[in-house]
Amino acid sequence: MSQSRRSDAKSAAAFAEAKKVIPGGVNSPVRAFKSVGLTPLYMERGEGALVYDIDGNEYVDYIGSWGPLIVGHAHPEVLEALRKTMEKGTSFGAPTELETLMAKLVIERMPSVEVVRMVNSGTEATMSALRLARGYTRRSKIVKFEGCYHGHADSLLIKAGSGVATLGLPDSPGVPENVAVNTITVPYNDLDSVKLAFERFGEEIAAVIVEPIAGNMGVVPPQPGFLQGLRDVTEQYGTVLIFDEVMTGFRVGLNSAQGLYGVKPDLTCMGKVIGGGLPVGAYGGKREIMELIAPSGPIYQAGTLSGNPLAMAAGYTTLQLLGQPGVYEELERLSARLEAGFRANSEELGIACTINRVGSMLCPFFTDSQVVNYETAKLADSEKFSRYFGGLLDAGVSIAPSQYEGMFISTVHTDAIIDRTIEAHRSVLKGL
Ligand code: PMP
Repeated sequence: MSQSRRSDAKSAAAFAEAKKVIPGGVNSPVRAFKSVGLTPLYMERGEGALVYDIDGNEYVDYIGSWGPLIVGHAHPEVLEALRKTMEKGTSFGAPTELETLMAKLVIERMPSVEVVRMVNSGTEATMSALRLARGYTRRSKIVKFEGCYHGHADSLLIKAGSGVATLGLPDSPGVPENVAVNTITVPYNDLDSVKLAFERFGEEIAAVIVEPIAGNMGVVPPQPGFLQGLRDVTEQYGTVLIFDEVMTGFRVGLNSAQGLYGVKPDLTCMGKVIGGGLPVGAYGGKREIMELIAPSGPIYQAGTLSGNPLAMAAGYTTLQLLGQPGVYEELERLSARLEAGFRANSEELGIACTINRVGSMLCPFFTDSQVVNYETAKLADSEKFSRYFGGLLDAGVSIAPSQYEGMFISTVHTDAIIDRTIEAHRSVLKGL
């Protein structure tokens, strides 16, 4: 239990109640704070960059609902759009014009996307994109990278990152062997291993799925040439290249990771930011492939609440806010300020810490090794991370409870809030 100066009595009681009726007390595993051995925070409300738990503690929030809240909590314009939409009804199961507006905006900004289908989560997006790639190529195997997480569909729960890594469950029971054999895993940033896999199985590989910036083993950027190398080898073998931009989409730039690195996949999965805090996912890409989805083609995929008006309203408003001039430049400035402060602290205090950052995704790894893949991410001292995590909470800063997750900065993390975080970080490092 927490040795904290904060009170967590109400959160502890709420968690005890929840455990009676919800597996592990939570509806998504990492929320339980199991790996850091603390009581999970039950949240009461959020405002901008701050969140408040039910014990009345205030935290600067770097989880941002695990990525979606790039414009902060309860943004007035997002709330207003939700209010206006909600008053007309919450769901029709019939098309609405907002879905077309949303699709046009996504297509305008995501360089490789010509046609897009809305779903309800990142998991649905990747699962559907894989089915489509398999249907299109009439092949079965896929290549994924160790430590990348693409949601919890069976074929993607092999050597996955995020909560799977945090809880040490590399090969989840319940995934049938005949599904697992079709997933080939290779180390991230290792083009030679990818080429070997293609030499052996090339004609059977339907898709390569990759996080263009890995964000589920901490933050691991692609090395120069890695993404282009994937593009080249998949083109050579007629394999579908899928960028999973569920986390990076509209976070690392107006044109996402594919815009940043100038590589166009065949299909792109989206989620998080495009839902503005409501449950949304999407997958899109080349028209030639996307038109194979029902009803224009034979590959089935559907959803009772897909394109839901409230979700579209929150996502569309968030994307519009992000389209204002200078937004990503300001996010970069704030994030660079945080990184510089963290670096100065660890240098001053002589603490081994490798910081990886792309835009507003940042991860401090407690190691002096470079972190370029899952093997090197695992060199980080998770025990030290757990103490760091608890210390930060006590100092009023909330980050994801795992060394295998990144921090997200939002457009409403002001200079003052960043500086407050750097000071908290310094005091926690001192006590480690
Ligand atoms: N892909 C990536 C890259 C993700 O980070 C996540 C969620 N963290 C998912 C897919 C799954 O999304 P969801 O949790 O919405 O199903």
